[in-house]
Amino acid sequence: MFIDLKLIQNFQMKYTALCQWVLSVRKNYRKSVAYHNWRHALNTAQCMFALLKSGRLQNNLNDMEILALMIATLCHDLDHRGVNNSYIQRSDHPLAQLYCHSTMEHHHFDQCLMILNSPVRIQT
Ligand SMILES: [Zn+2]
Repeated sequence: MFIDLKLIQNFQMKYTALCQWVLSVRKNYRKSVAYHNWRHALNTAQCMFALLKSGRLQNNLNDMEILALMIATLCHDLDHRGVNNSYIQRSDHPLAQLYCHSTMEHHHFDQCLMILNSPVRIQT
């Protein structure tokens, strides 16, 4: 999808760095969660890709907006615990102490930034 959208060439990404980033994102979804897991994230990204290509949305967005959408769709449920915000708040979960509202949405966003800001270590 990143190749087809020309994101690699437009942002001069190293292919191996992109692959490592995608694998890091996948690793930060919990396999034990039945729905909000890597499969859901990838399905969401594929739906966005289909909208961009067959819906011709790509023609109305700039490269940065397209990159942001692809990152957002892959990362939007990072480290989901399989429960909703209400449960997190009522169970006095440590995450509830970090954010006063939209707890999991803040957590997904922080996880996304953490991965994006992590140094890339490419093994040769
Ligand atoms: Zn989702």
